[in-house]
Amino acid sequence: MISESNYYRVVSDNIPEKISKIRDQIANFAIQYQRPPDSVKLLAVSKTHPVEKILQASAAGQHAFGENYLQEALEKITALQAHALEWHFIGPIQSNKTRAIAENFSWVHSLDRIKIARRLSDQRPESLKALKVLIQVNLDGESSKAGVSLQALDTLALELAELPNIELAGLMAIPAPKIDFTEQRKTFQQLAQARDALMAKGLDSCCELSMGMSGDFEAAIAEGATIVRIGTDIFGPRNLQSQT
Ligand SMILES: *Cc1c(COP(=O)(O)O)cnc(C)c1O
Repeated sequence: MISESNYYRVVSDNIPEKISKIRDQIANFAIQYQRPPDSVKLLAVSKTHPVEKILQASAAGQHAFGENYLQEALEKITALQAHALEWHFIGPIQSNKTRAIAENFSWVHSLDRIKIARRLSDQRPESLKALKVLIQVNLDGESSKAGVSLQALDTLALELAELPNIELAGLMAIPAPKIDFTEQRKTFQQLAQARDALMAKGLDSCCELSMGMSGDFEAAIAEGATIVRIGTDIFGPRNLQSQT
């Protein structure tokens, strides 16, 4: 007989079911906010979760995975090489980590300094397509948080668009958590407006909007998110101690 605690474990690890539920929710929110149901991509944020869970998600048709911690990510990328997954780096970037990021990832969501952008462009191997880069914007104006201010965004975007081996592919934000749906929408709307302003300046290869996590992706989709980054709702809670 299966014990009660095992039963809950099985349920909480049912990753294929969770993925299909999230996909349905994403498509339904898109329709609810007058958008095409396939206009929002799902990035599965697998940080701190083991390779086995990523394999389960992959078997359920999930292709794109987000990681925050380089060493942990490299181990997973190596272990999962045969599966040809698409890897997105979404954590803070130190300059001594740029080479490994340029060599192993297809996307970076967390760029906020031109110095890092130059290194990524210089270090991107010629055999690979341009690295797709999103600029992280600090919408809450907290000086402790990563991301460029809305005021500094234009300058960084224009400089970045000149670099040969990276492609400015959009904007990303991690707003401070808010309970109120209207407040969530207001914050995401700022990123959408910043994207529109950049495109009006002629940066027309741009722009994805990477916004929305497990707690706020409905509001993000309402405001035009094209990539939502979902961890907890797919893989369950993270064990903070395993972060490196
Ligand atoms: C961890 C993380 C996520 C996923 O957050 P959940 O609340 O678990 O969905 C999304 N984006 C970034 C940048 C993260 O670090």
